[in-house]
Amino acid sequence: MKTRRDFLIGSGMTTAAAWLTRGSLLAQAASAQSASAAQAPASTNPAVQPNPTLPQQLRTAAANETIKTTKLTDTIFLLQGVGGNIVFQTGPDGGLLVDSGISTGTHHLLDALSKLEANRPKMLINTHWHFDHTDGNAELHSEGAFIVAQDNTRVRLSKPQYMAAYDVHFPAAPDAALPQATFTDTETLWVNNDRADLVHTPDAHTDSDIFIHFNRGNVIHTGDLWFNGMYPLIDLSSGGTINGMIRGVDQVLVLADERTKIVPGHGALGDKAALARYREMLGTVADRVVKLKSSGEGVDQAVAAKPTADLDAVWAKGAMKPSTFVALVYDSL
Ligand SMILES: [Zn+2]
Repeated sequence: MKTRRDFLIGSGMTTAAAWLTRGSLLAQAASAQSASAAQAPASTNPAVQPNPTLPQQLRTAAANETIKTTKLTDTIFLLQGVGGNIVFQTGPDGGLLVDSGISTGTHHLLDALSKLEANRPKMLINTHWHFDHTDGNAELHSEGAFIVAQDNTRVRLSKPQYMAAYDVHFPAAPDAALPQATFTDTETLWVNNDRADLVHTPDAHTDSDIFIHFNRGNVIHTGDLWFNGMYPLIDLSSGGTINGMIRGVDQVLVLADERTKIVPGHGALGDKAALARYREMLGTVADRVVKLKSSGEGVDQAVAAKPTADLDAVWAKGAMKPSTFVALVYDSL
């Protein structure tokens, strides 16, 4: 009797057969892993920096945070303190938020908006699916915000997610947190006397990233394409790659001028010069890791070679360890 694999090979679909075999091996590996998870020693994979309670830690921290508000233009503000950086635009069409932060900080966020005497948020854009940018979605939606995001943000929020880099599991988000409108490549909103371009950057920090360009305000929110002054997380479990991140940053640099206020996903408000320095660092690390990988070094050897040693004094200031960053870059190439 012919097996399904024989049939596929016999019909010339060898690529599909190889894919199916690989898929079943991965499934076997995953089930073996979950069976032994209780006794598993701490991970020695250099691309994993385990922190399984990260969501709870972020929620606890956000509950006690105060929001720092920075005026970027007469109508656009930066709000920091409850997850990723949040941008708020106000005007005759109503309030528009870029990212919703951590849910336990949503009341702080709404307090900060009421101090601006701004309109309640009628629209919410998510830069990508990650928890620290979308956990406030459900409450803001119940307050009246219509949520817009790239297609994959809705897909990923709809189902449980696993982020291997921190070994952390996320449950599916509630229906109220899911975007009501999604798009594939680009979307344009004409809001509050400005033009906001929403641009998907494929396979970057995740597969769901967009940046938002307020043309008239000359403000860009990069989402997590940019961790200002730090090595970034590249979320390989969600389709992120170093080369996609570099391409995304290059798209932002083309649109920015010397006066553009550029809001990173994490870190301080920045400008084109700071983003260009980060782009150079990403390119340098990618080039060095490509050389190691193409000369046959394994990921452990590439990490041991410390290809970022001369960069760490400047860039190893965030949550991402240099060794983890190198391993993520390696695995994404
Ligand atoms: Zn992120």
